[in-house]
Amino acid sequence: MSSDEMSELLAYCTSRLDWLVETTTALASLESPTPDKAAVDRCGRAVAARMRALGAAVDVLPSDTTGDHLRAVFGSGAGQMLLLGHIDTVWPVGQIERMPIRRDGDRLYGPGVFDMKAGVAIGMLAAAAVTRGQVEPGRRVVMLLTADEERGSAASRQLVEAEARRSDAVCVLEPALPGGALKTRRKGAGEFELVVRGVAAHAGLEPEKGASAISELAAQIGAMDALADPARGVTVNVGMVEGGSRPNVVAEHARAVMDVRVQSAADADRVEAAVRTLRPRDRRTSLVLGGGFSRPPLERTAGVARLYGMAREVAHALGRDLEEGAAGGGSDGNFTAALGVPTLDGLGAVGDGAHALHEHVEVDQLPWRAALVAGLLRRIDAHW
Ligand SMILES: [Zn+2]
Repeated sequence: MSSDEMSELLAYCTSRLDWLVETTTALASLESPTPDKAAVDRCGRAVAARMRALGAAVDVLPSDTTGDHLRAVFGSGAGQMLLLGHIDTVWPVGQIERMPIRRDGDRLYGPGVFDMKAGVAIGMLAAAAVTRGQVEPGRRVVMLLTADEERGSAASRQLVEAEARRSDAVCVLEPALPGGALKTRRKGAGEFELVVRGVAAHAGLEPEKGASAISELAAQIGAMDALADPARGVTVNVGMVEGGSRPNVVAEHARAVMDVRVQSAADADRVEAAVRTLRPRDRRTSLVLGGGFSRPPLERTAGVARLYGMAREVAHALGRDLEEGAAGGGSDGNFTAALGVPTLDGLGAVGDGAHALHEHVEVDQLPWRAALVAGLLRRIDAHW
């Protein structure tokens, strides 16, 4: 890719700065909490209209249980590159009263601007920039925007995976790490529930006839904590416990819920196998295990590293450096990476305060991030 081409992309995206700010503002003002289908769909219609205005063919993919998902196609090449994002946010309708959308110097504040309505705007502009030139790319750009990412993507996971399988690479428009770094690793996450059944008895009259579910659970919690391996990035948190009925009754029932994070699929398998083979210490009690891993880890495979290398070259051509790092939380990129499709995450806005009251994006970084995504798409198209 010539540096002329890069500076042309940057000039185009810079000339659309007002559009980027106005689009981010408009989408943030259409609040879209995951559980409120009507609200998410209202925001989705505005996104679809803007993508159509940029020349995309947009399909609304209906969902009964969540807001509708959106699939937009830019260009007409035979192959495919995927831009991935979501239109739902964690903020309830009305949050905007507490967090009004406002510009303070270079910062644009508001609910959902950073996670990830500015990222949606960046992705749209980048896709349009790549496909508006004289030379059509050999691959079409598909932009998939889901409506339930903030609640675990149960309704959209199959859609995300099907689209990823058709794609040579996936660019995820989630917020950047602090300072703008990309995310080349994300932990996988799981939740396990352990229910213990004991034998009730009177604690004063005949305690020997009882088998305490609480004592058994305490031993099992020790076993679960021992699965943690911080040096390998494996963390375990038994974050909820309950059990028993009265102080003078040997507990018949107890329950714990554990959150597990891992950096590799091998560690996910190891932890899962260990949890599934937990056995009661007191044979009079029994264990029932539920749950599992809901997001596989995004591992830094050779494909991920190659995509990051390309993004870094594009950034250099734009006069910027571009670092990489790890994120503790998951995104839909975890699903696409686990399929073996090269995935690069954190390509969206630079800012701070995702899911927090000070959520904001840095306005002067918006154009170059759009040029970065556009340049990366060009580079993937030319060299993958
Ligand atoms: Zn997000």
